[in-house]
Amino acid sequence: MSLKGKVALVTGSTSGIGLGIARALAAQGADIMMNGFGDAGAIEQLRAGIAAEFGVRALYSPADMSKPEQIAAMVAEAEAKLGAVDIQVNNAGIQYVANIEDFPDARWDAIIAINLSAIFHGMKAAIPGMKKRGWGRIINIASAHGLVASPQKVAYVAAKHGVVGMTKVAAIETANNGITVNAICPGWVLTPLVEKQLEDKAKAEGTTVDHEKHEFLTEKQAMEKFTTADQIGGLAVFLCSDAASTITGAPLSIDGGWVAQ
Ligand code: NAD
Repeated sequence: MSLKGKVALVTGSTSGIGLGIARALAAQGADIMMNGFGDAGAIEQLRAGIAAEFGVRALYSPADMSKPEQIAAMVAEAEAKLGAVDIQVNNAGIQYVANIEDFPDARWDAIIAINLSAIFHGMKAAIPGMKKRGWGRIINIASAHGLVASPQKVAYVAAKHGVVGMTKVAAIETANNGITVNAICPGWVLTPLVEKQLEDKAKAEGTTVDHEKHEFLTEKQAMEKFTTADQIGGLAVFLCSDAASTITGAPLSIDGGWVAQ
């Protein structure tokens, strides 16, 4: 399958799952608008690397997903400089772990803003152009935590359940415009977001990160295996294919059997 001539905007693509998805879409020929935080030199290396390795146009926007006006400006910039946003992957996300009574208000607000509200603002900005062109693919990165809960993740679980709900609304509203809207619900993927949780838990319990990897996987998943960012990229590419053109409004688990249990 070729995505040559399509433009993909992937939020939070300077790291982890977003980077895996951006690379997978670029490998199919899509031009890429990258986004996310990090060291400027390292980000430029990633951007230039994608452009050179896959022969596509690649730009980077530093837009902060907690700022609605910056999200709209990023979509407008992609449309102006790359010609469109045909594929929108709403992936940027953060985590914080604490019981409800200890959960800082500011962490709640940040997680709801970045993991939930940013997707509303992003879709609001991108859908008009997709409708005009009669083609679009919106892929929202939810989580197994969009379908089931864990303790100490109140904001994350609330946001991810919201993402799954919002995905269904957007799918219904755009069903006859050549647009599909789906949510990918990963289980454990070994990225900086999870590495921090492993390190914190190992420190708190006086164990090792390797021990906690085993604990994390066996506590939640049937399969004692992390999903890779590349594999999530593969699912995103499939969702952009003709074979997937009637898959819409679906939460798609890629989770080693997490929610099957
Ligand atoms: P990560 O920490 O490796 O990457 C997060 C990305 O989001 C980075 O590029 C970061 O710079 C960006 N980001 C954070 N705050 C931002 C902001 N305000 N504005 C713009 N960009 C911002 O994490 P990851 O594991 O790759 O997570 C990506 C997505 O996948 C998240 O939505 C996360 O909830 C989801 N997810 C992850 C896992 C997992 O096991 N890693 C499982 C299920 C779902």
